[in-house]
Amino acid sequence: MLTGCNDAFSRKQSRPRAGENRSKSGYKLEIVDQLHRAIKSDFHLRALASSTTELVREACRRHELSGAAAIVLGRTLTAACLLTSLTKDERERVRIDIRGNGPLGRVLADCRSNGDVRGCLLCEPDDRHRTPPAHAQGARVSIAAYTGQGQLAITRDLGLERPYQGSVALTSGEIDEDLEGYLTTSEQLPSALGVEVLVDGHGQVVRAGGILCQTFPDGDQTLLERLRHDLRAGNLYDLLLRERPTVDLLGFALGGADFDDMGTTPLQFACPCGPQTARAVVSTLGADDIEKLAGEREYAEVNCQFCGSNYQLTSAQLRELAAELRRSRS
Ligand SMILES: [Zn+2]
Repeated sequence: MLTGCNDAFSRKQSRPRAGENRSKSGYKLEIVDQLHRAIKSDFHLRALASSTTELVREACRRHELSGAAAIVLGRTLTAACLLTSLTKDERERVRIDIRGNGPLGRVLADCRSNGDVRGCLLCEPDDRHRTPPAHAQGARVSIAAYTGQGQLAITRDLGLERPYQGSVALTSGEIDEDLEGYLTTSEQLPSALGVEVLVDGHGQVVRAGGILCQTFPDGDQTLLERLRHDLRAGNLYDLLLRERPTVDLLGFALGGADFDDMGTTPLQFACPCGPQTARAVVSTLGADDIEKLAGEREYAEVNCQFCGSNYQLTSAQLRELAAELRRSRS
């Protein structure tokens, strides 16, 4: 099976709209996936809050994940959404590549500035990883035993010839704490970052969201230190459990201080792969091997790791592709 994906095709998932659900008592506001930005009124801090429940559910549906595996991927996807704060242009993209030595230690996720996010586990979870991890009362769920230790690489594709890449040691294994270290040391942005995915007793995703708060290197670190402490104590977990909207998460991140609302960006699971991507992946084999493949089997299958989509090229399509490649060379 061939694997690969590029940006040749865009597919958007439908999202629920606010106010779409009606309860017997009237309208019920449905919390939609979004990235919400704010700046503290004295301009010394900026904060982002994300609600990512639907997109994490969609990713888990596509990759057939639940329990601990859903939390690991969901935290990475949510963090990728928050890291788009590092981008400026809609075409820019941030990728998180986790390379830990734990059983769920290989994870990829990327998010564009426009809110399109995708991701996958690069390891095959077994049944133990599809059940909810142990959760002590009053503490956040720990995923360190699943991710392990290793490296965490961040790639910022700014549309330039070469993307910018940095990395940090994966030491805590909780993903958000490790990324916090990356932002503070590599990006010179003192940060507090928390991402949480809540699952029910069957391991299904109930809520997902995150918070990122940043200041300048010479700014007051007091609020960030308090927020880091609160995030590690499971306070974000509790807020998500109580279905608090992103504006409340911003208030929590900024310690209840006044802030200027800088607006929202919708977030959705979306992968730009498509039939053309599959052709491009197969093309890398070269005309001779493609023709050989066409003689050996009825079709070739290309699987996109990021979104789980499968594309088939029939033997006739493979022969046509080989002929095209030969024509383009001559
Ligand atoms: Zn895809």
